[in-house]
Amino acid sequence: MWIAHFAPGLALKRMAPDTPLALLSLAGALPDALFMVFAILGIETIKYSDKSQDPSYRNPTGGRGSGCFPYDCDYPYTHSITGEIIISLAFAVLVTVYTGSKRWQSFLAVVLAGLTHPLFDLAVHRHDVALTPSEPPNQRHGFPLFDYPIVTFVVDLGIFLGALYYHLSTARVKGTQEHRLQTAKAYVYAAIAATLIQADFAFFGAPTTLARAFHAPLFLGQILAISWGCGLLDVASEGAGGLEKAKAGKAL
Ligand SMILES: [Zn+2]
Repeated sequence: MWIAHFAPGLALKRMAPDTPLALLSLAGALPDALFMVFAILGIETIKYSDKSQDPSYRNPTGGRGSGCFPYDCDYPYTHSITGEIIISLAFAVLVTVYTGSKRWQSFLAVVLAGLTHPLFDLAVHRHDVALTPSEPPNQRHGFPLFDYPIVTFVVDLGIFLGALYYHLSTARVKGTQEHRLQTAKAYVYAAIAATLIQADFAFFGAPTTLARAFHAPLFLGQILAISWGCGLLDVASEGAGGLEKAKAGKAL
């Protein structure tokens, strides 16, 4: 999945009020961010491979592949269940040190956001999610919703929009009528941005096959930008001064 990886942060924010939403959102997508870094460094691999153009490819239901997520990935560290548990715990420790939080619920929220990553990936990946780093590539897991781009688009976006609505509906928006209107606008802009990002992911992608040199940095940039954008949302719904803080770049 793509935009849905940022949904757990929005859904779990009320459990962790002292954790910046930007970091909580990043927790859900962190294995992907680390994978892009590892791919750029050559520790893990991402290779362009359009399954809609591969006559030998058949998914488990017998259907053809699609151009959605056109890559062969070998990522035993960032995308094995073992690796993702370690990543989630380590990131929760770092966030707790950074925020100085004394709340176990906040620590747990970061861990839970991270642990949703393998669950979401198992629903969409082309059997490349490993249980342990040593599991052979031909025995890995995943039901490839990536081979059904329209379903991927709807499910992925639906999960994000549902979490976005929940975050707004549980926000304590204070201030003037004008501030409330501005806050509502911020959520509408977020929904539009998420729709465009997910449409690009499911149906278009980048116009090149240079996965390691071009796609990996692009994905990494998107993850950081979306996490930052979620942080702005948190500030926007915080109170009368929220939008001003957001504009001043004080989302964290
Ligand atoms: Zn992933």
